[in-house]
Amino acid sequence: KLYNTIQDLKGSIRVFCRVRPLGTTGDPAPSCLNLGMDGELAVYDKAGERKVYRFDRVFGGRSTQEEVYEDVQALIRSVMDGYNVCIFAYGQTGSGKTHTMTGSSQAEEDVRSRGINYRALDDLFALQSQRDGETSYEITAQMLEIYNETIRDLLTEDQGGNNKLDILSTQPSGLNVPGATQIPVSNTSDVLAMMRVGARNRHSAETKMNERSSRSHQVLTIIVDGVNMSTGARTHACLHLVDLAGSERTDKSGVEGERMREANSINTSLSALGTVMHSLASKSKHIPFRNSKLTELLADSLSGQAKVCMLMHIAPESTSYGETVSTLNFGNRVA
Ligand code: ADP
Ligand code: MG
Repeated sequence: KLYNTIQDLKGSIRVFCRVRPLGTTGDPAPSCLNLGMDGELAVYDKAGERKVYRFDRVFGGRSTQEEVYEDVQALIRSVMDGYNVCIFAYGQTGSGKTHTMTGSSQAEEDVRSRGINYRALDDLFALQSQRDGETSYEITAQMLEIYNETIRDLLTEDQGGNNKLDILSTQPSGLNVPGATQIPVSNTSDVLAMMRVGARNRHSAETKMNERSSRSHQVLTIIVDGVNMSTGARTHACLHLVDLAGSERTDKSGVEGERMREANSINTSLSALGTVMHSLASKSKHIPFRNSKLTELLADSLSGQAKVCMLMHIAPESTSYGETVSTLNFGNRVA
């Protein structure tokens, strides 16, 4: 199913599933998955017992970055028409979230391996020049990290402790972190430079806390402001591209201190996200945005006319069966 027009996008939550290729993390275990037709996915436990899941679309291990992008393209383009959009990569560590959102570590040199973040910006620039003379657009980016329920600015030069930010929900739509650094971007080289700053700042925190990137959420926000040249009508919208913390459940026995705090805050924010999405999908009156920093940060962009896409990531190896089922159940709950 391709969503090519805004009309197709009515009914605002879409859930896709992407399977990482077998063996890329060195695990020699065989696959426990089978892809069916029409977004069906079968999972087998050790005894051969089968569970079947259905999503808007399932991408197999051989799917390309381009194919995945094609299915989110219409959603991303709608930000130019004033719709807030959130795209989440969910899944256990090693399931391919960063590959989908950013791309491989060669993303900078190897254009084909570039993920959604790069492709989205290039696409928005293309629309910007296509609509030149008709609508004038300004495109700006901010990049935040949420770690242990603390929001950190990844684009500021000041990484010395003054980079912590607070949420203030009275700001213009979608932008409720007033202190965040915003960088205007207008071409691919601006984007590459910005991504480098973000990656460097994220990395600097990592040396203090081993493999922190899998324990924190990264939120790249693209802010699009448009002015129609003939009518003067304005649009303002945000596209949030979120690489979530690993969803694996930490074995709480023997875990203490910082590790325990990390596990608890990831648990809090992912379950808050699940609850918010479930409430949105079931058109509930009360949406509990305030239960985590992540949902509070994205509140404006998840409600109202907003469009949301969950990209559920799974590892195919039978050793990941438990985490895979828990990821698929999460996806089914919000669908
Ligand atoms: P996560 O961000 O969920 O922890 P990664 O994106 O880092 O996972 O992926 C784990 C490993 O698998 C990386 O080495 C990555 O390059 C590789 N990988 C993930 N998805 C794919 C894919 N679709 N095609 C090729 N390699 C992939
Ligand atoms: Mg990652």
